[in-house]
Amino acid sequence: MKCALVTGGSRGIGRSICQKLANAGFHVLINYRSNTAEAEKTLGSIADTNGSAELLAFDISNPEEVKSELGDWIDSHQSHVEVLVNNAGISSDNLLIWMKSSEWDSVLDTNLNSFFHVTKMVLKDMLANKYGRIINIVSLSGQKGMSGQVNYSAAKAGIIGATKALAQEVGKRKVTVNAVAPGFIKTDMTHDLPEKDLKKLIPLNRFGDPEEVANVVEFLASDKSSYITGETISVNGGLYT
Ligand code: NAP
Repeated sequence: MKCALVTGGSRGIGRSICQKLANAGFHVLINYRSNTAEAEKTLGSIADTNGSAELLAFDISNPEEVKSELGDWIDSHQSHVEVLVNNAGISSDNLLIWMKSSEWDSVLDTNLNSFFHVTKMVLKDMLANKYGRIINIVSLSGQKGMSGQVNYSAAKAGIIGATKALAQEVGKRKVTVNAVAPGFIKTDMTHDLPEKDLKKLIPLNRFGDPEEVANVVEFLASDKSSYITGETISVNGGLYT
């Protein structure tokens, strides 16, 4: 069975990606950190539409946990991960002058270093099978740079660079690596932002829905995207081009 691993699948954009990929016929590994109740809701919604999925909890910022939990899954299953969506992320905003080391480290560990730990685990099988899709959820913040988000912008810009570099390493094996850069999307992450004021800056005059990001991920995860690699696709309502 074709498997897709989605990090941060319990809520927000990740949940919508899990639903789309399950609907497209993948057995979805729903990763999350601690919110089992929300992860169960993602799983339930997939079961309701006769999709196939399972929960796989581990902290992507903890290399030992990634190795033990994801490593165990890989060792104990015949099927391999054909699609990896590096979606899980956090923000911890502060002006750099006030930023604590812990705010810098947690954002870099979760948004950037996790890419290394998780991707390495599944890449071997993709290369051996001469097929794979790696999709990294980055951000407008990593393209443009956002005040108050030096940590987050640095992490997301780092992933955009990693996307381009890895695409060059693995293209010959028919593994593609792309990024999707959302603008303001309605999730827990943006819940406290003043949508009424911010939407005036957006040409499409609204925040996006998680599904509008997931649609692009579904395309990149499919055979239809076979000649696209190393690319970052913006989903931001025209806010930044
Ligand atoms: P969200 O609603 O806050 O959900 C975050 C998800 O990531 C949850 O499933 C959470 O799991 C998981 N997660 C966080 N830290 C983790 C860790 N260490 N290990 C495993 N899972 C972890 O976020 P979102 O808005 O959907 O964002 C998804 C991605 O899009 C992120 O990479 C974010 O940076 C990016 N993005 C979002 C926006 C936006 O406007 N929302 C804009 C640009 C980019 P638990 O439920 O267990 O906590």
